Amino acid sequence: MTPDRYVVAGHPVEHSQSPFIHAAFARATGQAMVYETMLCPLDGFAATVRRFAGEGGRGCNVTVPFKHEAFELAARRSPRAALALAVNTLRFDPDGWFGDNTDGAGLVRDIETHAGRPLRGRRVLLVGAGGAAAGALGPLIEAGASEVAVANRTREKADELVERHRALAARHGVALAARTLADAGTAYDIVVNATASSLQGDAIPVDARVLRPGALALDMMYGPAARGFMAWAQAHGAVARDGLGMLVEQAAEAFEAFRGVRPATAEVLDALQRRVREAHQ
Ligand code: NAP
Repeated sequence: MTPDRYVVAGHPVEHSQSPFIHAAFARATGQAMVYETMLCPLDGFAATVRRFAGEGGRGCNVTVPFKHEAFELAARRSPRAALALAVNTLRFDPDGWFGDNTDGAGLVRDIETHAGRPLRGRRVLLVGAGGAAAGALGPLIEAGASEVAVANRTREKADELVERHRALAARHGVALAARTLADAGTAYDIVVNATASSLQGDAIPVDARVLRPGALALDMMYGPAARGFMAWAQAHGAVARDGLGMLVEQAAEAFEAFRGVRPATAEVLDALQRRVREAHQ
């Protein structure tokens, strides 16, 4: 039997750890599938993905900078993708492509399961208002945080993201606020860096007052790019975490959408952490 084919589509995409993660899930669950990277030209995402589907591909994950375009390609969307206005998982169903956004669920599961910090009743600062933050905000609200503040360099983008989530926050009794980076607030239990500042090697975007002693500070980046943020967090009494756990958990959600099977993640995360450490020694 020919294995089903999946890809992660992006630009750039060669660096992606998704093929390693999905291959491990497939082995562990006995699924006959192959999963590769697919580089898409910046002006050719839709054409490249359609060609892949036409050649028998079954679905794809989508990374920077195409999550908004992937949203447009989906005929049906999960409620969380509809709220994020971004799709990172496309399943090529015969009756119309299904689009989901698994980033936020992956983040929440990593925080609660791997980092051992239940979100219920916690004060959370989400730094950034781009695609990654948009995917994270709904699931953070649904997890029952008491307060979620969104701080962004461009204040208007934080305002817009917060407005879109007002009704959801009201339903869950979550205090939701948009803030500037300079006035991000103080003493949060959990601080999530969803900006591209680490990727660009830029300064830490917020003041250390945002951290309460023992806070969890998570950068969605990983490898050398996350080191600056993690060192800053530790120096200010926080527990630092990179984005590898989120990456594995969002992949597990996507794998379930593709294959209907939920893979175990702890061993895959261990293996990925070793792999990334060894690659950057
Ligand atoms: P994006 O849509 O381009 O948004 C970038 C965000 O970063 C914006 O909020 C932007 O602020 C902010 N920003 C950029 N440079 C900054 C700086 N020097 N100081 C302060 N803020 C800055 O990117 P994205 O898709 O949200 O991705 C953000 C990060 O998350 C990337 O590093 C990505 O690799 C990572 N990510 C990780 C996972 C995972 O599974 N671990 C999943 C998704 C994304 P403005 O609005 O002011 O421009």
